[in-house]
Amino acid sequence: MRRLGLALCAAWLAALSPALACEGGDHVRLTQPVEIEAQELAAFRAMAPLRVLSVDAPPMARYDRRKDQHSGIGVDVLCFITQRLGLRYEILQPQDLTVAEKIRQVQDGRADVLIPLSENAERAERGLFTRPFYESHYAVIARKGWRPEIRGMADLAPFRVGVIKGVAFEALLNEVVAADRLMAFDDISSAGLFQALRNGVVDVAVFSKSIFDEKRYLHEYFDLEVVHTLHDAPRAYGFYFNPSPSNQRIVQAFNRHLAVLDLSGAVAAHEDGERQFIERYVAQRSQHLFWQMAVGAAVLLVLVLFLALRRYHRMLLRLAQSNEQILLQQHALEQANQELRKLSQTDGLTGLANRRQFDHALLREHARQQRTGSPLSLLMTDLDHFKYVNDHYGHAIGDDYLRTVARVLQTSVPRVTDLAARYGGEEFICLLPDTSAEDAHMLAERIRQGVSELGLPNALADGGRLTVSVGVATLEGGHSSAAQLLAQADEQLYAAKRAGRDRVHGVVLR
Ligand code: GH3
Ligand code: MG
Ligand code: MG
Repeated sequence: MRRLGLALCAAWLAALSPALACEGGDHVRLTQPVEIEAQELAAFRAMAPLRVLSVDAPPMARYDRRKDQHSGIGVDVLCFITQRLGLRYEILQPQDLTVAEKIRQVQDGRADVLIPLSENAERAERGLFTRPFYESHYAVIARKGWRPEIRGMADLAPFRVGVIKGVAFEALLNEVVAADRLMAFDDISSAGLFQALRNGVVDVAVFSKSIFDEKRYLHEYFDLEVVHTLHDAPRAYGFYFNPSPSNQRIVQAFNRHLAVLDLSGAVAAHEDGERQFIERYVAQRSQHLFWQMAVGAAVLLVLVLFLALRRYHRMLLRLAQSNEQILLQQHALEQANQELRKLSQTDGLTGLANRRQFDHALLREHARQQRTGSPLSLLMTDLDHFKYVNDHYGHAIGDDYLRTVARVLQTSVPRVTDLAARYGGEEFICLLPDTSAEDAHMLAERIRQGVSELGLPNALADGGRLTVSVGVATLEGGHSSAAQLLAQADEQLYAAKRAGRDRVHGVVLR
């Protein structure tokens, strides 16, 4: 009766505070039934939740910081058995504790159970081990590329060996490796075991193979490798309980379950940690590679664009420069053409219009005269006895005289429509549009007088100075041609010569 009351009470308590929900229990199953007495069940249900400490040791237990979640074969087993027993538990938040410190917390009763841990005599004395649920091996790890001759534990003797402080294996190593060659490290952090291996502080590290296999795929462990697996010293991992009397009952109940557990589901779910790490690593790498390539391609594109733009700019600049050059050359060409045109129409000695320009102008003005009927006059001027000048003073002086007479002509016929030209040798001609015979005569007279007044010496001529004779022909009507007008001017010039020179003779054509 008392028993029944107790069981009912326990069931009521359990209903009030149900076992904490856990995941992974469905990875595990029993190969045969395990009987649990109602009284025992009631006692478990009445217990306070177990305080569980976890060691980061995949595939048995691992804490995922991102998900804030514990997982692993050990966690699955814990979940399964505690659910069956009606026990509750909470996994304590990972603290910055070494394995040795966690063991001590369980031994002192600050925590109830530690998952997972391998058995050794010293630990068994101060705590309670369940049956093991996972077997693993230790591995000898060295820097990549260096392969020491190690085929078993005994071969470790000549080397400086590093190990994690407090692991059960430390005691085994102590038997093989001299104390001054065996170095224990708190953890595997940057100041820990693997760093010591890299720095050459130890020759080899001895570390749980399954954990290293996972860690190896983290980028920072790629420079290390397993050189030998210590198959001669397998490690069996179980749960480690504080040795309180109530825990003894729990361990017994655990063991009854562990003896008939099929863990293949949990092992399959968690032992592929290596594959998961590889996949995660490859995904990270390929993403990294993708971004590297994307950034590379973008940089290349910018560079190509920049170069193309620079080339384009340079081409534009060169184009502008050559355009400017072409404009300059065009300008110079135009100037040269103008100069040529001027030269082709100018008399080199006197700077007056030459015969070609005069011929053009005469045809033009004659046509205009024919259209308008306005008078058109020609003055044909010849230097008198110019041969004497050359003979007596020389050709250079003769040239000077020609230039001087040209200036007189130019100043005597100042209208823009008038044209004074050198007709040939020492003969000059003036084309005077809209100029009557009377005005033309007056102008001819001004020329004659102008030259005479210069008083240029011509010692051999009558009067002893340079004079000119002028023939004037004016077209005031009728249909005389330009050539006829010209011939008439010439005729009048010779008439003036015959009449004694230094005079003007003229005729009007109607
Ligand atoms: P007239 O009074 O009959 O015209 O006598 P003239 O001596 O002037 O005529 P002529 O035809 O006998 O001689 C013309 C001279 O003019 C001959 C030639 O040497 C000279 N003469 C022609 N062109 C030039 C020239 O460009 N420079 C110089 N210095 N002399 C020239
Ligand atoms: Mg002459
Ligand atoms: Mg003459």
